Amino acid sequence: MPETVSFLVDPLPNDASAEFLEASFREIEPGSGALAVNDFAPHRGDGVFETLAIIDGHVQEVEPHLGRLVNSARLCELPEPNLEQWRLIIARAAERVPATGEYALKLALSRGLDPGPKPTGWVNVTPGADFRAAREDGIRVITLDRGVARGAGERAPWLLLGAKTLSYAANMAAIREAKRRGADDAVYVSSDGFVLEGPTSSVLVRMGDVVVTPPPAAGILHGTTQRSIFGHLAERGVDAEYRDITVDELLGADAAWLVSSVRMAAPIAAVDGTPMPVDRHATAELNAYLLSPRD
Ligand code: PLP
Repeated sequence: MPETVSFLVDPLPNDASAEFLEASFREIEPGSGALAVNDFAPHRGDGVFETLAIIDGHVQEVEPHLGRLVNSARLCELPEPNLEQWRLIIARAAERVPATGEYALKLALSRGLDPGPKPTGWVNVTPGADFRAAREDGIRVITLDRGVARGAGERAPWLLLGAKTLSYAANMAAIREAKRRGADDAVYVSSDGFVLEGPTSSVLVRMGDVVVTPPPAAGILHGTTQRSIFGHLAERGVDAEYRDITVDELLGADAAWLVSSVRMAAPIAAVDGTPMPVDRHATAELNAYLLSPRD
């Protein structure tokens, strides 16, 4: 079975008849030229995407990811995605990779060919990166000023802070800056001193008996992994809540994690060079949950 699988997608309108679903996508050779030079994706990063984990053949949290795709498309004023189509393509792509191991499924929806307005879509499944050391030993992060105050998402919706857009060049630059400074990853901080999110992750902080994460209204992406963890904690009777977190609170926390769909939970072992406690037991429990089939 192939380790990498790619599909080219002709995104259907939301009200398309089910009879068109099967013919609306096709598998293509990974790495083949499937992107038109006049697509808005390469020129403007104008589109939205999602990254889902496939664990031992099971695609995690399909509906929360599709819900966020719809929200991102709405924020970007893209046509509403046809979820029946995306569900079918996700299922087909997952069937094509081996039934054991971790894979990352990326789906992207661009504004399409200049001048639009017909979107283009792709799906690419690749083996998941090796996150074992990050999940067990933890990661060192640096805080980086995002240059906007908390709540910028609501004051300036055109910044698209709550959408998962294809414009991730700035996020990649933040990770490079972290590596340049000898760390593994970054945590964005608002210009007024509040913890926001990682460039590709949500931040979870445990203070005493409660696990907290910044509210989406702070101007961050609402993480599917964070939401799944909050549901899991609620079932176990652990308090979990959204609230603002200062950098000092992060530094004084009992434990903290960067969480996202493919990495799962990586404990934060240091912030700006200051060591943080790593709760190996809680982290192992969290990752056992995140790696188990869940929807
Ligand atoms: N915040 C940002 C900016 C992200 O890019 C991501 C994921 O890539 C997340 C948060 C975490 O989202 P999820 O848990 O849905 O992967």
